[in-house]
Amino acid sequence: MNFHTMKRILSLAAAILFGMSAYAQVPQLRSEVFDLIDLERPGMEQVKALHAAGNDIEAAKSLLDYYKNRKGVATPDIKDPAKVTISEEHQKWADDGLKHTFFVHKGYQPSYNYGEDIDWRFWPVKDNELRWQLHRHKWFTPMGKAYRISGDEKYAVEWTKQYIDWIRKNPYITDKGKVFTDGPGEGEVKADVDPDVENMRFAWRPLEVSNRLQDQTLQFQLFIVSPAFTAEFLTEFLFNYHRHAEHIMANYSDSGNHLLFEAQRMIYAGTFFPEFKNAETWRKSGVEILNREIGVQIYDDGGQYELCPHYHLASIEIFIKALDMADLNGFRNAFPQSYIDTIEKMIMFYANICFPDFSNPCFSDAKLIKGKQMKTNFKKWSRLFPENQAIKYWATDGKKGALPEHLSIGYPTSGFFVFRNGWGKDALQMTVKAGPPAFWHNQPDNGTFEIWYNGRPLFQDSGSYVYAGEGEVMEWRRWFRRTASHNTLTLNHENIETTDSKTLLWQPEGDVQVFVTENQSYSNLKHRRSIFFVDGKYFVIVDEAIGDAKGVVNLHYQMPRGKSTNSRETMHFNTEADNGCNMKLQCFGPEGMTMKKEEGWQSPDYMKKNKRINASFNVKKTDNTPVRYITVIVPKEEAGDNPSITAKFLDKGYNANGVKIQVKVGKDKKKTLSYTL
Ligand code: MG
Repeated sequence: MNFHTMKRILSLAAAILFGMSAYAQVPQLRSEVFDLIDLERPGMEQVKALHAAGNDIEAAKSLLDYYKNRKGVATPDIKDPAKVTISEEHQKWADDGLKHTFFVHKGYQPSYNYGEDIDWRFWPVKDNELRWQLHRHKWFTPMGKAYRISGDEKYAVEWTKQYIDWIRKNPYITDKGKVFTDGPGEGEVKADVDPDVENMRFAWRPLEVSNRLQDQTLQFQLFIVSPAFTAEFLTEFLFNYHRHAEHIMANYSDSGNHLLFEAQRMIYAGTFFPEFKNAETWRKSGVEILNREIGVQIYDDGGQYELCPHYHLASIEIFIKALDMADLNGFRNAFPQSYIDTIEKMIMFYANICFPDFSNPCFSDAKLIKGKQMKTNFKKWSRLFPENQAIKYWATDGKKGALPEHLSIGYPTSGFFVFRNGWGKDALQMTVKAGPPAFWHNQPDNGTFEIWYNGRPLFQDSGSYVYAGEGEVMEWRRWFRRTASHNTLTLNHENIETTDSKTLLWQPEGDVQVFVTENQSYSNLKHRRSIFFVDGKYFVIVDEAIGDAKGVVNLHYQMPRGKSTNSRETMHFNTEADNGCNMKLQCFGPEGMTMKKEEGWQSPDYMKKNKRINASFNVKKTDNTPVRYITVIVPKEEAGDNPSITAKFLDKGYNANGVKIQVKVGKDKKKTLSYTL
């Protein structure tokens, strides 16, 4: 009988004897823990003595008693473990988790089953997120809550089993180089790589490790009262936890939101387990990084440098979470006033670029966050910034506080510009994105915009749909990310090569407000976009493609879903929605301009997409004569309303110093719109 057969028979016997499923493995005493913990700390006297006497199992039991009775460490997420509540959704994650049906990702529902003998490498769809996020163990904390609420030991027994099973099957490999990269790398499993090494890339990616560091502080509080949380288990837990924190110390991400998440969670680790000799180092590293990165990642106007509303909001939450942890455990002075002021600026930035119901533009990799969630945020933020009248106003539905005094506002460093005629849901608003080069979650979409009119979005950004993986996953990623899926200009439908917009003019006041931005989109083609917000009623967009590039210039607009009429003769679209949010768009271009309708999509959430029309107005460019368009967008309530629109250039041709055009909309008088730089 060889070793493997023997092992199989033994484990089967164990399963029969103890009624355990085949995957379960018993926690072992990890004596190394006594070297990791500072045994000189008050309260550790008995642990120290037992360990010194060579009685590590009794020392571990004493350590467990210490933790069961420990006071004075708090986490913001759970105030009192005995009084937790659970949502219906989380109860389901907990119950499904018992059967190894693991909630991994909202975009992949119903959840997959990972087998009785859990296969932590199961990867049913080659989307990196699906494999990475399995290792966040999102069902563990719900299991802990379900345990506390029901008192049913099955949750605790199963959690300890899964916890140990995960450790055994996701070995930590230190001697084979760094394979747990953080970047967007496509999820191909390389045949010539040791599968354990390959697995490190997923199970031990720093972002996932940090996620576990944070959530395990909660699981620890919820499960420690269970008989299944044995002294042996405690040593496995602490040893594993320590390895997690040390892993982050050595492998912090280089930049971006991942680094922020990791730092904030190291603050959790160092604060929650002060018994570790290295705890203070962990906590300090987290504090130091957040204090540094809030200056690096947040521009002077309050925008986060990934230029993605979703990660902007996530960054606000990260900075506040660290502050909450500091408040609860008495080290708020680790964060200077400038840190707190920056968070406030970030909140005001976000509130301004969002629409009147606080839904967000879906720029870059942003999902659509609805206003309801924001209400909770504003309430929390108002407690942190009680003097801020606008936050108070939004937190109280206008019962207290006051709206900002401004309407339109620009954030020139981040390149977000907002035109608005009011703050109410019936307002007309446009948020334009035209910023500097940015980090991974940013999309090559310079000059794009979203409009809000009468309670709904128009020209909603396509969104992101998926992040990264293999095959079809990447094809979809590329579609949503590409320049041509935005409301901006391309050459031959290709992605722009540079995303570095320069603001030439921002005039946010008066009857005619103006924004002029320029991006060297391709080495031989510059895109200048001038937007006029006229009488708070409609928008006129002048697009100029300048340079000696030859090919076809395409001006893209992502049309709203639902019925619309359009005409290739007059180059217009007229929507026919019955919800009070309509618009007429008409494009005026050079002789020979054609209109093309393609399949378009809008993704409000991961792996969710709705069909619509991606329209483009196309002009052949055969020499270095600039191609110039005027687009007029008139929002209107009634579907049947068909205002006549005319527009023409008054200047002879492209003029680097300005633009002069004439526009007439419906019964309004002819208007001359112009600016001089
Ligand atoms: Mg986009």
